[in-house]
Amino acid sequence: MKKRTDALKVLVVEDSKVTLKVLCNFLERMDIKHPLTAETGAAAFEIYRRERPDIILLDAQLPDIDGFDIAKQIRAKEQKDDWTAIIFLTSMTKDEDLARGIEVGGDDYLMKPVSEVVLHAKVRAMRRLVEMQRELVDVGHQLNAANKELQRLSTTDGLTGIANRRLFDELSKREWRRCERMKKPIALVMVDVDNFKLFNDEYGHQAGDNCLRAVAAQMARAAPRASDLAARYGGEEFALVLGETDADGARWVAENIRQRVSELGIAHITPHRHVTISCGVASIQPAKGLSLEGLLRTADNALYLAKGTGRDRVVVGEYGEI
Ligand code: GH3
Ligand code: MG
Ligand code: MG
Ligand code: MG
Repeated sequence: MKKRTDALKVLVVEDSKVTLKVLCNFLERMDIKHPLTAETGAAAFEIYRRERPDIILLDAQLPDIDGFDIAKQIRAKEQKDDWTAIIFLTSMTKDEDLARGIEVGGDDYLMKPVSEVVLHAKVRAMRRLVEMQRELVDVGHQLNAANKELQRLSTTDGLTGIANRRLFDELSKREWRRCERMKKPIALVMVDVDNFKLFNDEYGHQAGDNCLRAVAAQMARAAPRASDLAARYGGEEFALVLGETDADGARWVAENIRQRVSELGIAHITPHRHVTISCGVASIQPAKGLSLEGLLRTADNALYLAKGTGRDRVVVGEYGEI
């Protein structure tokens, strides 16, 4: 991409060697060093493709392709964010010919024989347009980058850096629909840190935050596939979507996370003496009469059961069970 400060690149297309020389001299006198030159339409198009000049002075009448056709081809070739100013050089005097030049994509014209003063004025005017265009492209790129960052921030949990609830809601719905189409099961794992209030009370909120980051890292590690997503569901709760995964597979993943968190060995004042998690698991093949909400409720109930039966464990729920 061209930067705003880049020097102006000018291409002069003219089949008369004498006129070409004169035009190049005019340009060099206004500090446009070494303008590019072409004497045929084919050469002009080739140079355009290679060099992407900012301004083209384009003879309307050339031995091979006529200037209007070259302008048309250039306009067709131009991509978003890339614009070349085209000034026709013409000895035609009919208004219709000038109008046609603008119609096919020209921006201005110069009458032959070209006056140096007029050429300088028109190139200066085009230079202003080229610079404005470059500025616009710059701003466009900045806006794009800002939008991407905003998008990232709005879907990322600030504390742990993994997906937030919003992204979880969106992607779990998408994965549900995908698994329904593929006739594959989808699994959810709900994770809750055990006795976390006690942890905060004992070690402080900062240590609590660090603990959540460590658990989040284990969650992310357990969700490596494109159809997996680990998210912070809220507070000290996390959730995992696992596409194309049945209950056994999801139990295995959950058990893995439970073990890894346990092995982190983050000291806690519970009988376990370190931080543990409880997991609720549910899996179902999406179909009529079933819902993602139902699956979430199933996983949530399983988690509740894991809490009630001693914590530091994985419980798999049956869809529809209360
Ligand atoms: P249980 O084993 O039944 O889940 O007990 P618990 O203490 O973990 O559950 P409870 O819901 O009573 O407490 C959750 C605690 O999590 C309370 C809250 O202060 C803490 N918590 C939630 N979000 C954050 C956070 O972002 N940072 C920290 N440090 N603590 C948090
Ligand atoms: Mg000519
Ligand atoms: Mg909780
Ligand atoms: Mg808890």
